[in-house]
Amino acid sequence: MNPPDRPIDREQSWADLRRLLVLYLPYRKWMFWGALAAFATVLANVALMATSGWFIAQMALVGLAGAAMNYFTPAAFIRAMAIARTGGRYLERLITHEATFRVLQELRVWFYQRLEPLAPARLAELRSADLSSRILSDIDALNHLYLRVLVPVGVAVAAGAVIVAAQALYSGRVALASLLFLLLAGIAVPALAFRMGQPAGRRLVDLRAALRSAAVDGLQGLGELRVYGGTERQAERIAALTDDMIIAQRRLSDASGWSQGLLGLLANLAMWTALLLAVPLVASGGITPAQLPMLALFVLAGFEAVLPLPLALQMLGETLAAARRVFAVIDARPQVDEPPDLPEPRWTTPEIAIAGLRLRYPGRDDTVRPWAIDGLDLHLRPGERVALVGPSGAGKSTVVQVLLRFWDYQHGSVRVGGHDLRDWPGDALRRHVAVVSQDTYLFNTTIRDNLLLARPDAPDADLVAACRAAQLHDFVASLPDGYDTWVGEAGMRLSGGQARRVAIARALLRNAPVLILDEPTEGLDARTERELLHDIGRLMEGRTVLLITHRLAALPAAVDRVVVMESGRAVEAGTPDDLLRREGGAFRALSQAL
Ligand code: ATP
Repeated sequence: MNPPDRPIDREQSWADLRRLLVLYLPYRKWMFWGALAAFATVLANVALMATSGWFIAQMALVGLAGAAMNYFTPAAFIRAMAIARTGGRYLERLITHEATFRVLQELRVWFYQRLEPLAPARLAELRSADLSSRILSDIDALNHLYLRVLVPVGVAVAAGAVIVAAQALYSGRVALASLLFLLLAGIAVPALAFRMGQPAGRRLVDLRAALRSAAVDGLQGLGELRVYGGTERQAERIAALTDDMIIAQRRLSDASGWSQGLLGLLANLAMWTALLLAVPLVASGGITPAQLPMLALFVLAGFEAVLPLPLALQMLGETLAAARRVFAVIDARPQVDEPPDLPEPRWTTPEIAIAGLRLRYPGRDDTVRPWAIDGLDLHLRPGERVALVGPSGAGKSTVVQVLLRFWDYQHGSVRVGGHDLRDWPGDALRRHVAVVSQDTYLFNTTIRDNLLLARPDAPDADLVAACRAAQLHDFVASLPDGYDTWVGEAGMRLSGGQARRVAIARALLRNAPVLILDEPTEGLDARTERELLHDIGRLMEGRTVLLITHRLAALPAAVDRVVVMESGRAVEAGTPDDLLRREGGAFRALSQAL
C-alpha cells in the first residue's frame, strides 16, 4: 500500500492522464454532446437569473413611474430559459450517462483483454480480492474522469469565458472583477482543496482495496479462522482499516467543506464588489437602474460554472490513483511471449520431446531462486503413457506449466506436436492438449455449461457419451434438473469425485491427442480412486499421456514407463516393473516409503 506521504510524481500523473484520455477517444462525440448540453444548461441558468433580476426591477420601476412596458418578450425569454435549463439538465444527464456507460463497457473489456495473457503466471502475484477490486472499483473510478472531471472543467472554462464576455458588454470593470473572483474560485480554491484532500484521496483508494481484500479473505477463510480462533484478530484488522478509512474520508470532507464555504464567500464578495462598481455607473448613466440588480445576480449566478471544480480536482486525484493501479497490472509483461503473427503451426504428431530444460521462478525483490527444473530430459513417443513421479517440490507440476505454455523456460528445448514449443501460440497449442488435475475449477453455472467449456459446440449426444464414459451420466440423470443442474460456487454442490468426473468428461469431449493428468485422484478415498482410475484408463486409450501422481500402487497397470524426478531433473526411468525390482532405485524407495 502507498504510504500517505509519498511524493506525487507529476510526470507519471500526466502520462497516466494522457493514457486515459486516449482510451476515451472513441467516445469523443458522445462526450462532446454531453458537455455541450451541460454548457447550455449553465448558460440558461445564469441567463435566467440575470434576466429575472432585471425584469423584477424594471417592472417595479415602471410601476412606480406609472409607465407601460412590453413585458411579453422578457417573460417569454425567462420562460424559455427555464425550460432550456430543465430540458438541458435532462439531456445532459441522458447523454453524459450514456457516454459514461459506453466508456465503462469499453474500459472493462480493454482491461480484461490485457489481463488474459497475464494469467496464470503474472496474476499469481496479485491477490484475487485485490484483482477484483481493480476490475470493479478502480475501473469505475477511471470512468469518473469524464463525468466528474472533464465535463466540469470544460464547462467552467467555456461558460466562464462567455459569462465574463457578456458582463463586459455592460461594464468592463464589473466583468474584470467577476473574472478575478471566478479565477480565485476556479483555480485557487480547488488547488487548496486538492492539497488538503489529495493524500487522503489516494490513501482512500488503497484502503478500499485493502478492506475488500481483508473482507474477502475473512469470508473465504472463515472456517480456518473459527477453528484456530482467529476471527477476533481478523475483525480487529477490518476495524482498523475501517477507522483509517473514516479518517481519510473525514479529511476529504474537511477539504470539501472548506472549499464549498470559500466558494460561497467568494461568490457573495464578487456580487457585492459588482454592486459597488456598478452603482456609480447608474449615476453616470452607463447602465439603467434595472441593470444594477441584473449585473449583481449575473455575477452571483456565474459562479455556478465553477462550483463543481474543487470536487473535480479531488476526483482527478482519486482517478489517477486508480489509473496507476490499473496500469500497474496491465503493464506487467506476460510471462510467456507469444510468437509473432506467423501462420499457426500444423500439429503433426502427438510427441513430446524435452531436452536440457531449465526453469527458474522469479524471486521476490531480485532474490534468485534455485532452478525448479534443472536439466530435464523427457521424451514421450506418440501414444506412450508416461508417469512422472517424485517427491514434493521436485518440479513435476512445473513441467505441466511449461507444456501448457503458462510459464516460459530459460534454457533447453521443448518440442510438442512436431514443432518447437515457442512457435506455438498458447491458445493453438492448448487445443491439442486435455488436462485433468486435482483442482478442477467448476464455474457457478450448470453441469452442461461446465462441460461445454471443453467444446462449446458439442451436441447433446456427445455430452452424454462423454459423461457415460466418465461414469457421471447416471448421477446427472438422477438429478431433478439433469444436465441443467447448477453446481454452486466453485462446484460446491458436487463431491470431489464427481468434480473429477466432470474434468474427465471434459477431457473426453475435447478429444485431444495429448492428455496431461496432474494428480487426478489426489484427495479421494480408495474406492472412488479405483473407480476413477478405471475411467481414466479409458480416457488414456490412443492418447499420449503424461501422468503426474503420488499414488504409485496403481502405476504398473496404467503406464508404459515411469520417470522419477528429483530436484528438477530425471534421475531414473524405465517400466514400472523394472524400476520396482531395481535394488536401491529411487522409484523403489519412493514406493516403499508410502
Ligand atoms: P508437488 O508434488 O508437491 O505438487 P511438484 O513436484 O509438482 O510438487 P512444483 O510445484 O513443480 O513441484 O514446484 C517445484 C519448485 O518450484 C518448488 O520448490 C516450488 O516451491 C517452486 N514453485 C512452484 N510454483 C512456483 C511459483 N509460481 N512461483 C515460485 N516458485 C514456485
